[in-house]
Amino acid sequence: MSTLHIYNTYSRNMEEFRPLHPSRVGMYVCGPTVYGPPHLGHVRGPVVFDVLRRYLEFSGFAVRHVRNITDVGHLVGDADEGEDKLAKQARLEQIEPMEIAQAYTLSYNEMIRQMNVLPPGIEPRASGHIIEQIEMIQAVMDAGLAYEVNGSVYFDVFAYAKNYDYGKLSGRVLDDLIAGAGNESRELEGQDEKQNPNDFALWKRANPEHIMQWSSPWGKGFPGWHIECSAMARKYLGDVFDIHGGGMDLLFPHHESEIAQSTACTGHNPARYWIHHNMITINGQKMAKSLNNGITVDQLFAGNHPLLEQAYSPMTLRFFILQAHYRSTLDFSNEALSAAEKGLQRLWNAVKVARNLVASESGEYDVQALAKECRVSMDDDLNAPQVIARLFEAARVANLVNDGKMKLTATQITELNALFETWLVQILGIAPEESSDHRALDGVMQMLLDMRVQAKQDKNYALSDSIRDRLTALGFTIKDGKDGSSWSL
Ligand SMILES: [Zn+2]
Repeated sequence: MSTLHIYNTYSRNMEEFRPLHPSRVGMYVCGPTVYGPPHLGHVRGPVVFDVLRRYLEFSGFAVRHVRNITDVGHLVGDADEGEDKLAKQARLEQIEPMEIAQAYTLSYNEMIRQMNVLPPGIEPRASGHIIEQIEMIQAVMDAGLAYEVNGSVYFDVFAYAKNYDYGKLSGRVLDDLIAGAGNESRELEGQDEKQNPNDFALWKRANPEHIMQWSSPWGKGFPGWHIECSAMARKYLGDVFDIHGGGMDLLFPHHESEIAQSTACTGHNPARYWIHHNMITINGQKMAKSLNNGITVDQLFAGNHPLLEQAYSPMTLRFFILQAHYRSTLDFSNEALSAAEKGLQRLWNAVKVARNLVASESGEYDVQALAKECRVSMDDDLNAPQVIARLFEAARVANLVNDGKMKLTATQITELNALFETWLVQILGIAPEESSDHRALDGVMQMLLDMRVQAKQDKNYALSDSIRDRLTALGFTIKDGKDGSSWSL
């Protein structure tokens, strides 16, 4: 049996996945900063790590999945400058920051539910873990790797780099960082407090009018963005855990800083496997406010955006995401999404067909081997697109048997149905999404098909042919099998 091999961003190698404990996996995935409605940039990570989790659970591991909610400390600028994203939105909408956090946590989790992503076991909020963050900042200071200036605390990157490898994860070299930092960033708010422009904030002093602030040993303030993930991952998963995941946009500064903070406290890189998914583009371009191509998931599901030719369902979006390898970029376009929609429909039709296949004495296809190949694909760095290709092969087999062009035994038919159930539904997490309209239509169609059978039995061929011809004219395909008729549109 093959075993899971996965690309570790930290080592830049494909590695065999061996969890710390033989039967348990700890996985921390960076969650959203909840200050706006979820958009296309938010969906890929949850789907990718959901499939990883589902596959680990299928493989027999108990997974503790932690995904945080960032509701404080994430500033508009990456270099610790600008307003807190939530505080800014609260000011614009003239409500409490925690109302912003609550509203957009709910809309994020609604998106998660629609996308059939399993909810994490623990969903900690940054604002609910201020004490843990203060304790961790204190530990970094005790290690001599942070300093306080005017009520703010900064991580001392130079002091850290004397003993540890700063920049290993993101591939940035400290000298480059210094050259790139330039003079202009020193003029940004708070930059003059830093001993070195590469240092990053662990705690920021709050002005009296700042709406989110807490007491600390350094006075009133709020935590930096990176420290929350270090503190919450450590609290729920321990000093060292198995998987830390996120998007490639988080490599620097967020994850690089997380490693530095945790290492400063415990002496260890907190995660054994760093896993990053690639980003999405829209019609070949990055998502950006200036390009006006930021599509929210609600707009996508309703088809309500100038760039969209139609609405796309959550499962079409999920299937589309999984058709690309998680480490490749993924480009959204109407053509690609409608191709995904058609492809998924073809698979569902085959799933239906497979349920009603008629067994033969002997079989002509090794279904078990195909299921094993699905496993081999998944073990090869979560190659979901290859699993999908094998599902299309299973669909081809189902249709051939249905058309009388291939034979399967009863056991093989059971295996074929199990293959769809396991790989399409359980592991890739593609749920059937028949609308109530569709269910009603199916009921009406079954009624018509039953009437047609009755007409044939009554030798009223004019009526039975008329039913079939009129349905065909409407675009329905009627297939007569030994166990009755089925339809597709
Ligand atoms: Zn994080």
